[in-house]
Amino acid sequence: MNHTIILKFGGASVASPEAFSHISDIVIERKKHYQNVVVVVSAMGNTTNELIALAHKVNSNPPRREFDMLISVGERISISLLAMALAKKNVEAVSFTGSQTGIITTNENGDAKIIDVKPKRLLPCLAQGKVVIVAGFQGMSTDGDITTLGRGGSDTTAVALAVALGAEKVEFFKDVLGIYNEDPKKNPHAKLLPTLSYDEALKIILAGAKVLHARSVSMAQKNSIKLHVLCFTDYKNSNYGTVILSQTRLSEPEYKYEFK
Ligand code: ASP
Ligand code: MG
Repeated sequence: MNHTIILKFGGASVASPEAFSHISDIVIERKKHYQNVVVVVSAMGNTTNELIALAHKVNSNPPRREFDMLISVGERISISLLAMALAKKNVEAVSFTGSQTGIITTNENGDAKIIDVKPKRLLPCLAQGKVVIVAGFQGMSTDGDITTLGRGGSDTTAVALAVALGAEKVEFFKDVLGIYNEDPKKNPHAKLLPTLSYDEALKIILAGAKVLHARSVSMAQKNSIKLHVLCFTDYKNSNYGTVILSQTRLSEPEYKYEFK
């Protein structure tokens, strides 16, 4: 049995109440193959944008500390709903906010950097075989305030947890099949890229594609964490999607494949 896997579900994968039941099925399937399953979720659909708009209706220039206190709430909705959906399927799961998870950040509200992860509360749950669900995009500053990691920051939460827990890989579930050479929502002929090196992935992201939070890829590169971007609806076929690894590991026979 493999050891630890991190599953990350973005806003599009948790856009409706029904989505949580589908995610539960994915979690149950992965639990058959991994001893420890940790799930990181983003806010549902457009929730973060709505919270930002709400703040601006009250104050066009909100205090940054209070802004983070508000916009971190979206992920908290998702973690609790996922724990409820898993409970309905008789899977023991516990949800944690970023601060409960021990994600310690700088105090740059709105763009905080993770400086440490102390998953003390997670370890006993995992040891008891429970699924752990973590709110993405947020942490707690060294001053004890709630911080957020910048838009799309849940990806970085997932990789930071992979490093802290010694996970083998992070799977990112999206509403597309993987990473393409062009935006598949704009160009139907865009080509799916089966493998990418960290440098190639970073290049695509820095050119403007919002496929993954840039910091998550550099953190994975530094710590040799395997990243796998795959489709929310096609999760059973784990050979599909895009695998991101170092150039050296991609040259290994296992990764020398190409999709037509
Ligand atoms: N919910 C946050 C955002 O929309 C974080 C994330 O999705 O990763 O930016
Ligand atoms: Mg989001």
